[in-house]
Amino acid sequence: MTTQIKTNQSLDIRDVLKSFPFPEFRRFQKETIEEIAQAFNSGYRWILLETPTGFGKSPVNVAFCRALHSFYITPQNILIDQLNRDFPDLALIKGREHYNCAEILRGNCAENAPCKQNSEYICHNKYVRCPYWIAKIRAIEAQTALTNFAYFVGEGLLHDTNVPHFGDRELLVIDEGHNIDQHILDHISITVESRTLPYSVFQSIKKKLATMPERLTSEQIDELLNDTALHCKRFLDSLPDILSREQVREKEKALKFRQKVENYWKNHDAEWVGQTNEKIYKKGIWIEAKIQPIYARGFTYNHLWKRANRFIISSATIFMHDFVKECGLAEHADEVCYTHTLSTFPIRNRMIINAAVGSLSWNKKEENLPTALGAISKILDVEKGKGIIHAHSYGFAEAIKNGIPNPRLMFHISKDRDDVLNDFLEALPESGKVLVSVAMTEGLDLKGDLATFQIMFKCPFPNYREDLRVYRRLKELKHNKWYGIQTLKTIIQAYGRAVRSPTDVAKFYVIDDDVNRVCKRWYSQLPQFFREAYNARERFL
Ligand code: SF4
Repeated sequence: MTTQIKTNQSLDIRDVLKSFPFPEFRRFQKETIEEIAQAFNSGYRWILLETPTGFGKSPVNVAFCRALHSFYITPQNILIDQLNRDFPDLALIKGREHYNCAEILRGNCAENAPCKQNSEYICHNKYVRCPYWIAKIRAIEAQTALTNFAYFVGEGLLHDTNVPHFGDRELLVIDEGHNIDQHILDHISITVESRTLPYSVFQSIKKKLATMPERLTSEQIDELLNDTALHCKRFLDSLPDILSREQVREKEKALKFRQKVENYWKNHDAEWVGQTNEKIYKKGIWIEAKIQPIYARGFTYNHLWKRANRFIISSATIFMHDFVKECGLAEHADEVCYTHTLSTFPIRNRMIINAAVGSLSWNKKEENLPTALGAISKILDVEKGKGIIHAHSYGFAEAIKNGIPNPRLMFHISKDRDDVLNDFLEALPESGKVLVSVAMTEGLDLKGDLATFQIMFKCPFPNYREDLRVYRRLKELKHNKWYGIQTLKTIIQAYGRAVRSPTDVAKFYVIDDDVNRVCKRWYSQLPQFFREAYNARERFL
């Protein structure tokens, strides 16, 4: 049931409550809807909704989407599929590669499709036959278009073209929106390497790349991007009329690269940093250059804020002041309303256990690693169910693998992470399997027996040694608070993985003492539900 409210009209709170998708409200949901609607009616345009796991923010977001012409977007693909199952009136659209071309027997609407392989190809009645276009048109016409962050941002580039596009709407909901500055930066950043460029283009600039210093000057960045874009143009000009599947893929890379370089020139005044990285393998040398802006705030208006009148950004880890600053809302601070709720989960079910053995930072690692590995072994003696260890890096995962020969432990590398994760999820509770994970602090729903404990092995600091943008902010500009908050976001996101309902029970063990150091230093910034748990933490014996 949809209640349409026209642009700029005030919201009737009863209409929003009627649009709530379930017969009953969970604790705090009704009050939160009322609070948001009142805030919108008082002139606030950005609602930052910080709620702990279990609150049920998606149905609250959906109630507003059903009341206003809207977008519902999230960076998490797993969440998109779940939303699509739970709320089929939200019209889902994904990238072309997810749809099967109707013109051929087998193959997707991206690389395999005749319309992609031949620009002259006319696909008759594509808007009623092509699965991709059917989904896109449905999303364009629907009250709410549901999509992921990357698709939404890319789709915005179509607005000045004749290609059917979303246009702007009254409401933009960004679910799990705590890292949108980082997602915008990922979208804008330019990587010069073999995977982002056609083969022949990369071969043409590889030698030059190898002679460049680790840190690039702005002149060197300009020159590298100019040269590479020129090679991309030559490559595009040389393509035949009818392309192979591989050529379609390479053409997309060249077009995307040129688009990014165009954006770089348009925003040349922003502060950019460029670095080269080199790794030597048995088979040869891998080299790349990465060019990125320091801040996302100059880019958020074009990519997000101009697309709607009102916004709900929901997450368990918003950090309001940081969000306002990093996402380009400082000038609109009086239009931003922050609201949060308490956790409905008992603290005893989500205890933080301090098993800290000292710091595992690079200069203390050697000294403390053996004790840290010993702490994992002791925890595994006590915890017999399935669990997850947040190793933070493949280096630390390797150290755990070499130091703890326990058959319960499962390891992944970047290539097989989805397969290993599926094996872990499917393992029986009595198997006691423990996944040693890298970068799985978000998007995992380890309810019930899927994980009865977690271990935060290494404090998840952003890597300033490998990322020049982080280095610039932390070491040169001394943005210590920003750095601390990025770390806290990852810690608190990880904390929320294993206790997913009021009856779920899972302990969260901390081994790296830097986690305590960060929580204490930035204690006033902690969301309340986490602060309560941190205050009640117990010592592991
Ligand atoms: S428009 Fe036609 S040719 Fe292109 S992907 Fe869709 S069905 Fe295939």
